[in-house]
Amino acid sequence: MGIPENTEEVRRKISEALKKSGRNEKAVTLVGVSKTKPVELIKEAVECGITVLGENRVQEIMEKYEHIDGVSWHLIGHLQKNKVKYIVDKVELIHSVDSVELAREIDKQAKKIGKIQEILIQVNISGEESKSGIEPCEAESVCRQIAEFENVRVKGFMTMAPRLAGEDELREIFGGLRLLMQKIKEKNIENVELCELSMGMSGDYETAIMEGATIVRVGTGIFGLR
Ligand SMILES: *Cc1c(COP(=O)(O)O)cnc(C)c1O
Repeated sequence: MGIPENTEEVRRKISEALKKSGRNEKAVTLVGVSKTKPVELIKEAVECGITVLGENRVQEIMEKYEHIDGVSWHLIGHLQKNKVKYIVDKVELIHSVDSVELAREIDKQAKKIGKIQEILIQVNISGEESKSGIEPCEAESVCRQIAEFENVRVKGFMTMAPRLAGEDELREIFGGLRLLMQKIKEKNIENVELCELSMGMSGDYETAIMEGATIVRVGTGIFGLR
């Protein structure tokens, strides 16, 4: 199948999962994960209505940025502090903030260009050692510390599930992130606006939506295998 058919199928499945869980038709943002894919293919996806592109490397955003119009870019992969300066002027949302120090650098660079950078905090809900992200028990403290930065706004949380997780485990992980966010939201921390849950990839986005995802990150499901 080509990109148009793939995109349509992903949209249909998103819409079905939303219906099944009684959620609003427009409650989910689809991020097309275009990492490793060439500009020509990405343009094809944009023609199919993809308006948000996700990349996991700073270098790739820098290379592709000028060649694709009419989209917003999300950084979804690990970000090193020394690379923040290259992308703050390019990305709408950074999904992968995993330390206060990284947020401090984002604040500094965003200030320079007069921007308030929206971010998500990546949480390692599954406890898998290979996954990055903060521990769930640190989430409130990290939110409170990042809240002090004027040019950074926490919009919500992001997580990744283990590749081979079964349905029950997925539910537990995604539901766990939703509950964690709810709990911290109730503390009404100033400058922290917890409304986005970035969870779900090609293999598990329907389950993530059933558990409240507001952003899904789909690569293979749209662009085919990498
Ligand atoms: C690559 C990647 C995705 C997309 O993965 P697929 O399985 O191809 O949909 C989503 N999120 C992150 C953080 C990624 O690195």
